[in-house]
Amino acid sequence: MTLEKIEPVKIHILIVDDDAGDRKALRRALEGSGTAGDIVEAVDIESALAACDSRAFDFAIVDYRMPGQDGLHGVTALHARFPFMPIVMATSHGDEVIAAEALKRGAADYIPKANIRAQSIRRVLDSAMEKATLRRELARRQEELEKFAAVLVHDLRAPITAIRAFARYIDKGLQAETPNRETIAGQCRQIVECGRRMDALITALYEYTKADAEVGFDVVDMRSALAEARSNLEAIIERQHARVEHGPLPTVLGNLPQLSELLQNLIGNGLKYCEMPAPVIEIHAQPEPDNVWRFAVRDNGIGIAEKNRRRIFEPFERLHGTGKYEGSGLGLAICKKIVERHGGAIWCESNEGPGSTFVFTLRGAPGY
Ligand code: ADP
Repeated sequence: MTLEKIEPVKIHILIVDDDAGDRKALRRALEGSGTAGDIVEAVDIESALAACDSRAFDFAIVDYRMPGQDGLHGVTALHARFPFMPIVMATSHGDEVIAAEALKRGAADYIPKANIRAQSIRRVLDSAMEKATLRRELARRQEELEKFAAVLVHDLRAPITAIRAFARYIDKGLQAETPNRETIAGQCRQIVECGRRMDALITALYEYTKADAEVGFDVVDMRSALAEARSNLEAIIERQHARVEHGPLPTVLGNLPQLSELLQNLIGNGLKYCEMPAPVIEIHAQPEPDNVWRFAVRDNGIGIAEKNRRRIFEPFERLHGTGKYEGSGLGLAICKKIVERHGGAIWCESNEGPGSTFVFTLRGAPGY
């Protein structure tokens, strides 16, 4: 048996230290740690900042004691400009208080200079890199949350504003000498419709957040997932004289309620975004290497332009206003979450004929 040799990931490192001897010792330890790609040396913070401006570093190690400035200022300045670059401070004996201060100012860790050896530096480097990855992920989630909240406020406010306006019209209409019953009844219906839209949005939001929940994985027969999705869509399928056809479907590793929701959203969209007198949805699965199944949900609907095929998976992204096709813009974002939670990927492909094809991958159940 031959074992494939896995090369460790090489990272770009910046050493900030005024002492040539210390820089050499650091370089030797970093090279011995087995992860260093290229190493750049800077003798003070100004040249360190300039080096970071001209290229990206994965890791910086900053000496505390430098003439004319202390390393803490260096940590502050580097962290402010490059918040996701892990910084480790090299301290001397008796600098423990300084080390704590460095952490407060954004350093991921510190390492006593006396302890700079290949093994110890590797440990510090690995943990600093891990912390930086977490920090980046947290920032990404925070940004996503802010965007989500902004759109949500906008989308919920629209029907509320409309409800208030209709209520004012009704109030005014009732004060007329001879109130127009028909107009008022129409305005009441509009209020009911706005309420229904808000309700649908709240339900979609609930489904979206639920897709994040920890769920148990089991062996799932995709025919059962499809049967459940179909039965939830039965009324629409009948009303639109639609056909939902499928080839042989495998058994996968996953969560049945989530997988039927995935199919329901994709089939539901295939039915909704279709102008044909008889929509046809076809579901096929084919095996891929490494026990992965590739599913395709194909429709004969209005299709999706190439340039929009990525963004439709983002929350609240809709290609049409509420006028013609109703929706929250969360259906595909829910699908993406579900598939990614299952360790797969989802994307949209073009059809040869009319319509679109949504493709996703799932892990096959072991031993099936
Ligand atoms: P919703 O249907 O609630 O608007 P989705 O997240 O399910 O939200 O879909 C996002 C957008 O992608 C839709 O508004 C629509 O413009 C487009 N879309 C989704 N599925 C299809 C499809 N099968 N055919 C054509 N367009 C689609």
